[in-house]
Amino acid sequence: MPSDCLFCRIVAGELPSAQIYADDSVVAIRDISPQAPTHILLLSRKHIASVRDVTAKDHDLIGKICAVGTELATREGIAEDGYRLVVNVGRNGGQTVDHLHVHLLGGRHMSWPPG
Ligand code: 5GP
Ligand code: ZN
Repeated sequence: MPSDCLFCRIVAGELPSAQIYADDSVVAIRDISPQAPTHILLLSRKHIASVRDVTAKDHDLIGKICAVGTELATREGIAEDGYRLVVNVGRNGGQTVDHLHVHLLGGRHMSWPPG
C-alpha cells in the first residue's frame, strides 16, 4: 500500500472517515465535501491509481463496486428517483485522488452535460 495515498490510509483506518459499508474488497465512505444530498465514495480496498489502470484481474472488483453502489442507493432511498455514478479519470477528467473510486451522487436532479 502506498503510504502517501489518502484513500489507502482511510481504507486502513489510519485516517478517520464516515464509513457506511465495508467488505473484503470495497469500502464506502461519505464524501468530505458533498456535492449532493447523498454523496458517497465507493473505494477499492486494493490500491489501483485510476480506472485506466484496471486490468482483467480487476473485473470482478469493478462489478462488485457497481453492486455495492446499487445496494447503497437503495439503502439511501435514492434508487427509485435515480442517481449518478461518476468516475473521474486523470487530470482532464477531474480526478484529484489517485486511488480507484466511484462517486455515488443523488437526492437532487443532475444536469447534463457535466461541467
Ligand atoms: P476525485 O476528484 O478524485 O474524483 O474525487 C475525490 C473526492 O474525494 C472528492 O469529492 C473529495 O471531496 C473527496 N475527498 C478528498 N479528501 C477526502 C477525505 O479526507 N475524506 C473524504 N471522506 N473525502 C475526501
Ligand atoms: Zn491508495
